[in-house]
Amino acid sequence: MVEKTVIKAKAKRHAVVDREHCAACGACEAVCPRGAIVVWKGSFSVVNDDLCVGCGRCSTECPASAISIEVRA
Ligand code: SF4
Ligand code: SF4
Repeated sequence: MVEKTVIKAKAKRHAVVDREHCAACGACEAVCPRGAIVVWKGSFSVVNDDLCVGCGRCSTECPASAISIEVRA
């Protein structure tokens, strides 16, 4: 029996947070369909790059314009 190995490619884009401008409101965390962004210890949001698909919902919702969607390096 041959086992298949599935390698999932990461999305080309991802969310990047400007921590200086993040107000830790949690709006991004609430709208992310992938659970890829969370407010860390009430300070600022952090993105789990393995989960983020770059959909941009968090960026649209952010009242502080602290999230940009960028092409992965
Ligand atoms: S870009 Fe989409 S998947 Fe990535 S953190 Fe924002 S809402 Fe979640
Ligand atoms: S929505 Fe914007 S201001 Fe609010 S926690 Fe997320 S990055 Fe910070």
